[in-house]
Amino acid sequence: MAKIHNLGFPRIGANRELKFALEHYWQHGDSETSQRHLHATAREIRQGNLEIQSALDWVPVGDFSLYDHVLDTSFMLGNIPTSVEKVASEYALTALDAYFLAARGQTAHAECGCQTQAGEMTKWFDTNYHYIVPQVDADTSFALNPSRINRDINEARSVGAEVKPVILGPVTYLYLAKGADDTTKLTLLPKLLPIYAQLLANFYRHGVEWVQVDEPVLALDLNREWQTALQYAYDYLSTSNIKLLLTSYFSDYGANLSIVSALPVAGIHVPVIDSWHEVNAIASTLKASQVLSVGVIDGRNIWKARLNQCLEQLIPLHQQLGDRLWLAPSCSLLHVPIDVELETHIPSGLKDRLSFAKQKLQELVYLKNALNEGRDSISTELGQNSASQGYEKAQSNHATQLRDSSLHSSLFKRQSTFSQRKLTQASALSLPLFPTTTIGSYPQTSDIRLTRAKFKRNEISEHEYILRMQDEIAHVIDVQEQLGLDVLVHGEPERNDMVEYFGEHLEGIAVSQFAWVQSYGSRCVKPPIIYADVHRPKPITVAWSQYAQSLTAKPVKGMLTGPVTILNWSFVRDDLPRNKVCEQIALAIREEVNDLEAANIRIIQIDEAALRERLPLKKHEQRYYMQWAVDCFLLASSGVKDETQIHTHMCYSSFGEIMEDVARMDADVITIETARSNMTLLDVFDTYAYPNDIGPGVYDIHSPNKVETHDMLDRLNHACSRIPADQLWVNPDCGLKTRGWDEVKVNLRHMVAAAKKARVVA
Ligand code: GLN
Ligand code: ZN
Repeated sequence: MAKIHNLGFPRIGANRELKFALEHYWQHGDSETSQRHLHATAREIRQGNLEIQSALDWVPVGDFSLYDHVLDTSFMLGNIPTSVEKVASEYALTALDAYFLAARGQTAHAECGCQTQAGEMTKWFDTNYHYIVPQVDADTSFALNPSRINRDINEARSVGAEVKPVILGPVTYLYLAKGADDTTKLTLLPKLLPIYAQLLANFYRHGVEWVQVDEPVLALDLNREWQTALQYAYDYLSTSNIKLLLTSYFSDYGANLSIVSALPVAGIHVPVIDSWHEVNAIASTLKASQVLSVGVIDGRNIWKARLNQCLEQLIPLHQQLGDRLWLAPSCSLLHVPIDVELETHIPSGLKDRLSFAKQKLQELVYLKNALNEGRDSISTELGQNSASQGYEKAQSNHATQLRDSSLHSSLFKRQSTFSQRKLTQASALSLPLFPTTTIGSYPQTSDIRLTRAKFKRNEISEHEYILRMQDEIAHVIDVQEQLGLDVLVHGEPERNDMVEYFGEHLEGIAVSQFAWVQSYGSRCVKPPIIYADVHRPKPITVAWSQYAQSLTAKPVKGMLTGPVTILNWSFVRDDLPRNKVCEQIALAIREEVNDLEAANIRIIQIDEAALRERLPLKKHEQRYYMQWAVDCFLLASSGVKDETQIHTHMCYSSFGEIMEDVARMDADVITIETARSNMTLLDVFDTYAYPNDIGPGVYDIHSPNKVETHDMLDRLNHACSRIPADQLWVNPDCGLKTRGWDEVKVNLRHMVAAAKKARVVA
């Protein structure tokens, strides 16, 4: 009899209950009620999750987290940053406050003044989930604290669930850690393994049979040392009485396959990524006692599984393995929203094809029943499932034509080289040395949000909405004029989110009401759903930009989100290759770019904040991705005349390795985040002469702190030491949407002053 299980469930709650409880606690942490409320909310979510998963043979426990599962692992292993321990003991913080201190650098008790550096956050593999990076050095020691996971085991047991604790494996934990080189990290493994052995012994005492141990580094290209470490770790842990189910996800095992099949574990999980090849390969080498968990349901996307096709593959495996065949989603369901039934606005034809976390578990039940009781036992469900497959026909002839005609190479190139364009633009725009600008958004006050919400609910007319937004734009332009910035923006008041906004205005993309996915801590995003051919029915941003430009003689930058970012921050149809979908978006954005130019907008910024996000995990696949991603940017941006200046913006702290691709994007100006990462990003310019203009952020917008002119000037001077002055722009790290007006005005005044001082010296 095939069994079903799950690798992890979303923690945020169907209505983001955890988010609100967390934020309430952070604001009112001194009150006991808010702490009690937070714990009660967390417990309710865990219980709700158990209920949703009650049809499973094994329910994951320990996957719930108040902030992040990697941070939880650090606390469980007793690896807490010294600075956090120091502040925690100095101020006698509770365990809960110490935990949030480690995550956010501050506790809810603002008045205690206890602060430390916020935990470094980075993206979890190729997802938009961010984890808190463990810190280690040669002296790191570990001590087990299993209280959280034991509580979750007991809780789940009390409602009769068959539990399967989920832990992050020792090798992945060290691999992801920072603060030491690989060799040092690997010397920590012999210290760490006894802690894991204690943890398994602890589970055994709790009567646990199976433990899911996640080693997602197996999705990466691993060198010999790390492969050996895996062998060593699982040899060591194999003496425990616990059955280990080894999992990896997000990509296939690739060159690690032979290592994985040789590890002495009781079960292996194989995600079905693009093919069943590895599932069958592992099935053929499986030991007689081992279980094979097939990640048959896509845990990264929101389309219904093709149940009949899955069964074609699963039936022979079931014949071979019997009850040693387990079925699961490919990865934790953390990366998909919870329940499609909550959606009331998605057209029913589309809604019918969607499957969120709850529905995915139901699909597992169907598959299990079909295997164990025969296909006929679920013939109705199978019939419904195949009826709701398939994609709608192209939404417009226009998009079909574009898709069918191979795109001409001239569409990917500006008319002249950058050096020629630079001259043309210099006379068209006459900007000073070190031109100052901002990244796009200005503070989004509650009043602006409320106005947008009212318009959405039809509580105010379109006319009133436009007037209100125009007021805000006029205000933003006025502030920028007063500050003396050189290139202005309209401030993006009409946008809730840089991707969702374009999702709302492009055909072929749907936006949901409640399909939230955790991004980090209490932050969630609502990715749009690309379900059909994408095209632009009419101009999107032109009227706003035109209005802003009408108020000033200075150039106002048009502001668009780039095709790769729209793609990477959406759920994407799976019947077309991603690069083809991206091309369609690029063509839509190209039309917008061209219309902005026609409306006399002289500078157009196309943000590619997520260009790197879906960079494949395997090195040999990265080239191809970057190739088409950059092509799509070029397709979107190259339709303009020489004198129209194209900007792009990116914010992450590592793009050294893609510098040449960034250069190939050939944006006239790129603004990047550098202040937050202490200008370390600029190191790459020592070895790589970036050809076009560049604005390294001179202050970090993630913190509410005021920054002095001389600090910004220092950063600008630092940039000058690496990049020729006539290539440099002056701007903040990123958009100002989450900041307050007061700090924005002060910091921008200082920024303009810094640029002026630099001009005098130059
Ligand atoms: N233009 C956007 C803004 O300023 C860019 C946001 C981003 O890079 N994440 O808000
Ligand atoms: Zn940014």
